Amino acid sequence: KRLNNDFQFLDVDRKDPKKIALNSRQADFVEIYEPFEEKQAASQSHRCLDCGNPYCEWKCPVHNYIPNWLRLVSEGKIFEAADLCHETNSLPEVCGRVCPQDRLCEGACTLNDEFGAVTIGNVEKYITDTAFALGWRPDLSARVMTDKRVAIIGAGPAGLACADVLVRNGVTPVVFDKYPEIGGLLTFGIPEFKLEKRVLSQRREVFEEMGVEFKLNTEVGKDVDFAELIQEFDAVFLGMGTYTSMRGGFPGEDKQGVYDALPFLISNVNRNQGWEASADDFISVAGKRVVVLGGGDTAMDCNRTSIRQQADAVSCVYRRDEANMPGSRREVANAKEEGVQFLFNRQPIEIVGDDHVEGIKVVETALGEPDENGRRRPEPIEGSEQIIPADIVLVAFGFQPSPAPWFADYGIELNSWNGVVAPAEGNFAYQTTNEKVFAGGDMVRGSDLVVTAVDEGRKAAAGIMDYLDV
Ligand code: FAD
Ligand code: SF4
Repeated sequence: KRLNNDFQFLDVDRKDPKKIALNSRQADFVEIYEPFEEKQAASQSHRCLDCGNPYCEWKCPVHNYIPNWLRLVSEGKIFEAADLCHETNSLPEVCGRVCPQDRLCEGACTLNDEFGAVTIGNVEKYITDTAFALGWRPDLSARVMTDKRVAIIGAGPAGLACADVLVRNGVTPVVFDKYPEIGGLLTFGIPEFKLEKRVLSQRREVFEEMGVEFKLNTEVGKDVDFAELIQEFDAVFLGMGTYTSMRGGFPGEDKQGVYDALPFLISNVNRNQGWEASADDFISVAGKRVVVLGGGDTAMDCNRTSIRQQADAVSCVYRRDEANMPGSRREVANAKEEGVQFLFNRQPIEIVGDDHVEGIKVVETALGEPDENGRRRPEPIEGSEQIIPADIVLVAFGFQPSPAPWFADYGIELNSWNGVVAPAEGNFAYQTTNEKVFAGGDMVRGSDLVVTAVDEGRKAAAGIMDYLDV
């Protein structure tokens, strides 16, 4: 195909990278999408219409220069594309893999109606993976180091993005995390079939080469006191996430065989990666009938992990219909292909069994009037109760904030739902009520997305630099 063809989108269909064989997807903890070949990436990128005022860019939370790097890929200029990607995003290879593109950039692509959106996410992943493999590294030759040092608590996307912007601007970040590897939920949450762990270890090496210092296996408040950090550093950034698992509040949730989603997912990662402290920590669902409660990304990850652990059957119970599911449509489709059975419009009301779970009682729902967020409320249909047999129930109802007990000692205020108060539009962006402390990501906005955590980490770094006057 000619790459100067303005009507490429008419000649070339949207084509996602191939997925690996289904039987491998049902057993292996590896990414399911094969990488784009150079030619494919170029021809898919060239489908971009280069709209004058690109809506995809506006819809992307970090406002990536999407049409510009698509053009560079179509011209084979990978290093230039990688430079441009990193101007707006600290973890493009991660966002390319896990962003719900159908709701963000690709959902806003002009071609998204009858022609099929440009494969923006997969090209973003291709650019960074290829550039790294060819030896590309961020160009810091113009950087002038200052004597300023910032402590960052949490090596999740918010903390990493903050560290990235600071170190590029000559401020030394020291990142503390209680886990043995960076990534936060990217490593200890999101399973390998969406994001292999080598992606984060590679990114750690790149950040270390850039001058970011990591203190892993170090919990602030236990292994090191916050008092030390606030004294020793010029500022502190909190990117500690939200870790209180929500429960449904119905009877039977404490029965044996009922687990919160995150411990299940983390135990699986720890087993796969050899990070398990004790073999007893592993939660196995092999040979069991699994019911997953919830309809978001966490629920999909539990469903698909259970399939790979060789559960006997996996059902996903969600109280609204498919159109009203909160997570990525791509991941719902992947879960269906892998053998997950979906039970829509079912609301759990009780977990039944003696000591151990034997089933889950649900009632059918019809969607009523929209709630305050505009989503239609599920209303139970009287007399429609049924029991779904189960040996294991995985609860994926989302997360609430988990503020540290020491926040109050340092005047770090919380809002009505326990999120840390750190306004984007304050004197200094994302400054908390302690002037030396900044915060961003899930702990400020509530559980959300990788790309929104990256966005807040980057903007908080700008706030910190304004505060430090560098
Ligand atoms: P986190 O990623 O939670 O990182 C916080 C870090 O702080 C952790 O590493 C933690 O160990 C560390 N920490 C906390 N307290 C301390 C302390 N006292 N001392 C030291 N370290 C500390 N988003 C998407 O965009 N796409 C997806 O497909 C997707 N899938 C998801 C699947 C699951 C199972 C889950 C749970 C979430 C998913 N998300 C997804 C959401 C996304 O992962 C989060 O929104 C994002 O990781 C939030 O980033 P963060 O940096 O705010 O916090
Ligand atoms: Fe799309 Fe996410 Fe990349 Fe933005 S960061 S272009 S939303 S995949």
